[in-house]
Amino acid sequence: MTPEEFRRHGKQVIDWIADYLSNIESFPVRAQVAPGDVRRALPVSPPECGSSFTEILADLDRTLLPGVTHWQHPRFFAYFPSNTSGAAILGDLLSSGLGVQGMLWATSPSCTELETVAVDWLAELLGLPRHFRTDATGGGVIQDSASSASLLATLAALSRATGGVTAHAGITGRHTLYVSSETHSSLEKAARIVGLGADNVRKVPVDPATLAMDATALDRMLATDLADGAIPVMVCATVGTTSTAAIDPVRAIGEVCREREVWLHVDAAYAGVAAVCPELRWVNDGVAEYADSYVTNPHKWLLTNFDCSVLWVADRAPLLDAMSIQPEYLRNRATSSGAVIDYRDWQIPLGRRFRALKLWAVMRWYGADGLRDHIRTGAALATEFATWVARDPDFELHEPQVLSLVCLRPRWPELSTGEANDATTRLMESLNASGALYLTHTKVDGRVLLRMAIGSPTTEERHLREAWLRIREEHRKTLADLAL
Ligand code: PLP
Repeated sequence: MTPEEFRRHGKQVIDWIADYLSNIESFPVRAQVAPGDVRRALPVSPPECGSSFTEILADLDRTLLPGVTHWQHPRFFAYFPSNTSGAAILGDLLSSGLGVQGMLWATSPSCTELETVAVDWLAELLGLPRHFRTDATGGGVIQDSASSASLLATLAALSRATGGVTAHAGITGRHTLYVSSETHSSLEKAARIVGLGADNVRKVPVDPATLAMDATALDRMLATDLADGAIPVMVCATVGTTSTAAIDPVRAIGEVCREREVWLHVDAAYAGVAAVCPELRWVNDGVAEYADSYVTNPHKWLLTNFDCSVLWVADRAPLLDAMSIQPEYLRNRATSSGAVIDYRDWQIPLGRRFRALKLWAVMRWYGADGLRDHIRTGAALATEFATWVARDPDFELHEPQVLSLVCLRPRWPELSTGEANDATTRLMESLNASGALYLTHTKVDGRVLLRMAIGSPTTEERHLREAWLRIREEHRKTLADLAL
């Protein structure tokens, strides 16, 4: 493709995206295809000759779009939001256009230095502590996902627990990791990857009312394990669990970790960005004093398209110890001078995209004020929705309701828990199949709850009213079908 052809088709693509985003409400929120439909509609073998870009776009409309779930739809309430924004899309496009591979400072200085600036800016916007900044002992780095970030935290924690990768003899059956039943599965995956046995991942009990990790139980568990000769590597506290956005008491957990000399990782993948608003900074209480590492995802609720997850560490030495290897072919004068950062040493892959461009574009386009407005709007809409649920005798609101997530349970008089769970699942399935909205579920105390994750920049009160109307109608219909 010549630059002139690129210009022509690039404009076509931008128009396509702008039209898509303007018309997004006309699509059913969840893809309406059956397994295999999309694949069957595509040729089995690659084309022998090239096609025009117009044909490629036509295929996108005809074949792929029906199989797309519209994550940017204002009535998308599933999982957690995965915001994008014009600024992020354009930043990402520029990154693709530059085609930079930023593994070393030397392979593209701006890629590295903009990332340093962007993660330091974000740390400031979130009110994170000074030691997380690159000019202090720590630093931040953009990862593809919170899962990778938590794996890195585990590796860094292991490095510290074992006295450094070059010194230690590897993982032993004595190393242990502490999570709760509500911790994201990525921590269990990280444990598997680093070679910790399933029994060495300890599940700390949660407070049944709040689903937050019980710090006293953690302390007891650590004391017992230490007495038995265990080497506790890391505790993961969550700020905003995936199931119900429960917030672990980071301060109390941190005090235990400090006392027992265990690494504290804080997974704030979804909720951490709420801290752009000073009045919501309570979510990070204790992080400044106690967290050794902290992750939050601008690619969830902060207008930056996937992938953009930021990991900060209070002390970068254990991370670099765990991740740095110096093969001859990567040696260069800048690295040897010690005056530059090579982010390849802060991640698992060698290569890295210029992801800072989109995060930087978002912070510049919206400014701190615009980002705060976005978070406040999502949180306020959720509070309003929660009020409607709480007032309706046919539904039960799960409390505490946190930030932009609302969990609710339809009431099913006369049904056992199992039957009620089936009825709730059936209600959710028909709502999602209708294409009018998309929501997902979780289970608390054996009971299925519906999760309404609000937070798309396109969601307005009217979308919530429409969704609420549909949920109530579907509940009535299901009750009638079940002859209740
Ligand atoms: N941690 C928490 C608390 C999450 O809610 C999620 C995803 O929803 C993750 C980690 C995983 O995020 P990622 O997809 O960036 O790996």
